[in-house]
Amino acid sequence: MSTTVIRNADWAILWDREQGRQVFARDSDIAFAGNRIVFAGVNYQGAVDRVIEGAGRLVMPGLVNVHSHLLSENIGRGVTEEIANPALYMSAVADPKPVFLPGHSMDTATALAEAMRAATRMAIHELLTSGTTTVADLALPYDGWLETLAGTGIRAVAAPMYRSAAWVARTGYTVEYDWDEAAGRRAFKAAVEAMEAAVRHPSGRLSAMVSPAQVDTCSEELLRDSLTLAEERGWPLTLHTSQCVWDMLEITRRHGKTPVQWLADIGVLTSRMILGHAIFLDHHSWITWHSKRDLELIAQSGASVAHCPLVFSRYGQMLESFGGYRRAGVNMALGTDTQPHNMLEEIRLAATLSRIAGRHADDTNLGEIFHAATIGGARALGRDDIGRIAPGAKADLVLADLGHPAMRPARDPLRSLVFSAADRAVRGVYVDGREVVRDGVALTIDLEDAARGLETAQAEGLASAATRDRLGRDAATLSPLSLPLAE
Ligand SMILES: [Zn+2]
Repeated sequence: MSTTVIRNADWAILWDREQGRQVFARDSDIAFAGNRIVFAGVNYQGAVDRVIEGAGRLVMPGLVNVHSHLLSENIGRGVTEEIANPALYMSAVADPKPVFLPGHSMDTATALAEAMRAATRMAIHELLTSGTTTVADLALPYDGWLETLAGTGIRAVAAPMYRSAAWVARTGYTVEYDWDEAAGRRAFKAAVEAMEAAVRHPSGRLSAMVSPAQVDTCSEELLRDSLTLAEERGWPLTLHTSQCVWDMLEITRRHGKTPVQWLADIGVLTSRMILGHAIFLDHHSWITWHSKRDLELIAQSGASVAHCPLVFSRYGQMLESFGGYRRAGVNMALGTDTQPHNMLEEIRLAATLSRIAGRHADDTNLGEIFHAATIGGARALGRDDIGRIAPGAKADLVLADLGHPAMRPARDPLRSLVFSAADRAVRGVYVDGREVVRDGVALTIDLEDAARGLETAQAEGLASAATRDRLGRDAATLSPLSLPLAE
């Protein structure tokens, strides 16, 4: 097994196991053999096959993204960023965004799978070049899904979604539910097969997460069986919960209690659960419910929250607040959800929005959010071998350039990276000990090929948008360009 050492890194972010926190270290050597880190500290003396110069570099653990939809989001670039439905409390997930998602726009299954593969590769290109080494892909299984994930070199958590009901937005101001329990069961079964294939995958970089889709679209029985499966297999479990005002309203209408309280009552709110995105809890300023105990219930259960601030901020929405959730004792993890899939930008926005929502400059700090983007995500996924640089952990590493103008002065290189440079300073990325980004370029993805596939798919989808919209509106009406074209 060959050993690589990153020699004399000017700065490194290492995991202090005793203190249970990430710490800065100066002039460090980080050595890995095969896919495991074997040394992180000063002056590695062991045998070495390859040396990487650490001078001028910040070496940090690869980021852990616990919530993304890789197949569907990049196809909406330039289309969906400014679409929201005011009558559905500024959410667009049920209307009108689905008009532009690939599942609704491709004519043949082959074209659909091709579009999804292209979108996935584009998304992973963004993830790798911005320092993410683990991503949970909440997807609808399609032809070639697992091979596409594995082929990019990233570490991926395959999270095939299924549900008992589909959303139907007939009027534009209501969301109705088309229940089909048998179809949900069939999708559940297919999801189990996909997850089993993921954990068996020869790359060793794929794992599984049980993913009933949304709290309002899954029957109680399906949710209970999902938890049972997760417990039997030792897999994490995730569920979109309180991600918009109307899912909160729907569950209170059905059960007389909030989504979080209902999940607690039926026994599925446990430490295996990652709630996506748990924004509209009973304390949120957009919600006027009589109780104020959702946050405490989440903290007591040990469940995690997948915080994806960017996409919600585009709807004018924010979690209230990141720092408040942490002080309540909730394990926070981060995700990108939609495009751009850039965790460094999510970290920056999480810091900013926490201070706005908490109405205090000390509501959170970068150290706390970086912890969520690494250790918090790892804990949510039930892992102690990612999100950290420590002997025994996977060799998932990111090298940033301290000499990049946006990094200088590099007095606190993590602040420089998050608040100034972001992915522009990311030069090298290793996943499982394998170099996947060199000089800022992903080595594992044919970017041109993926981009062309995505552009073709988007063009087809835009051309036929009117056939799927409930009012027959075309793409230009639903999503006008940001500036008018000159006459
Ligand atoms: Zn999501």
